[in-house]
Amino acid sequence: GFKMGIVGLPNVGKSTLFNALTRTAAAQAANFPFCTIEPNVGEVAVPDARLDRLAAIASSKQIIPTRMTFVDIAGLVKGASKGEGLGNQFLANIREVDAIAHVLRCFEDGDVTHVEGRVDPVADADTIETELMLADLESIEKRRANLVRKLKGNDKEAQQQDRLLAAAQAALEDGRPARTVEVDAEDARAWKGLQLLTTKPVLYVCNVAEDESATGNAHSARVAEMAAAQGNAHVIISARIEEEISQLETDEAEMFLSEMGLEEPGLDRLIRAGYELLQLETYFTVGPKEARAWTIRQGTSAPQAAGVIHGDFEKGFIRAETIAFDDFVALGGEQGAKEAGKMRAEGKSYVVKDGDVLHFLFNT
Ligand code: GDP
Repeated sequence: GFKMGIVGLPNVGKSTLFNALTRTAAAQAANFPFCTIEPNVGEVAVPDARLDRLAAIASSKQIIPTRMTFVDIAGLVKGASKGEGLGNQFLANIREVDAIAHVLRCFEDGDVTHVEGRVDPVADADTIETELMLADLESIEKRRANLVRKLKGNDKEAQQQDRLLAAAQAALEDGRPARTVEVDAEDARAWKGLQLLTTKPVLYVCNVAEDESATGNAHSARVAEMAAAQGNAHVIISARIEEEISQLETDEAEMFLSEMGLEEPGLDRLIRAGYELLQLETYFTVGPKEARAWTIRQGTSAPQAAGVIHGDFEKGFIRAETIAFDDFVALGGEQGAKEAGKMRAEGKSYVVKDGDVLHFLFNT
């Protein structure tokens, strides 16, 4: 599955947000069979109104959303790259995630101490990014030193790694995160394999005061500007509000949201923004037993998409019977789509599209 790491300075609202996320997930556990929650790891359902529509049309007994993992990575402080605080363990945790949700304190509250004694989310973002850059630099130096012997042996893979590490090092020494390095298509795989911290896409989470979650404030406006300049994403939420919502029943929550001037929980926006940031898409399998959503990367072929369900589906792939979401809905389901000639048989080279309703045929 796909993993987002929640990072941020102490006291910015990380745990509040994480608790809201996982409590919501726990509430959904009844129809959510894969919801395993560890103290700092939570799986959450990706909200998708299309899935409910498909299930209604097909009278599916069960609705199973696709999911995303959030990891609460506490302990990032100034000096983390020097092994202060949780230091290395913390950095190892970040290495494993696909993207970073960086929580920034955008709320004023004299009762909640700020580690730097002032509310300045742009400076905070900079503090954390600097730590990640220093950590990258240190690991690059170590890795390049380890490559020296292989380079003398004319090892092609080592040469490629060293060249990419050198490019990252040059950017970092110039004060830029490694994500600013432009990488050719043929290097993309090796580049990703380096697992540099500052190549991970970042989603800034502006944690604003309770009465500002619909509008944002001056702090979140500055974060929005910074995020746009970096090519990163941002969302505005109030972690406290989300925590309250996560404790309410569905109809109570809806009333509460409309009172706050919100159309949907901020968590839904956060999860979807993460999904977009990771360039993920959803396809569906729909039948009388269950309607289910599955996550793939953009550009995934039909056999690879089948492999998300089961490895055997990918190995024995024959073809995918495909109905576009809009056709499925407009024609009242699979039978109608079939009769209208909107069910296509797609082969191995088909690139799955977001919203496709698929049925795989495979050899066992
Ligand atoms: P963490 O250290 O980043 O995990 O921060 P916590 O989630 O523990 O929050 C630190 C403190 O800030 C707690 O007392 C929270 O209740 C408080 N807090 C979190 N979000 C908000 C908010 O939106 N407004 C206000 N006033 N306080 C908040």
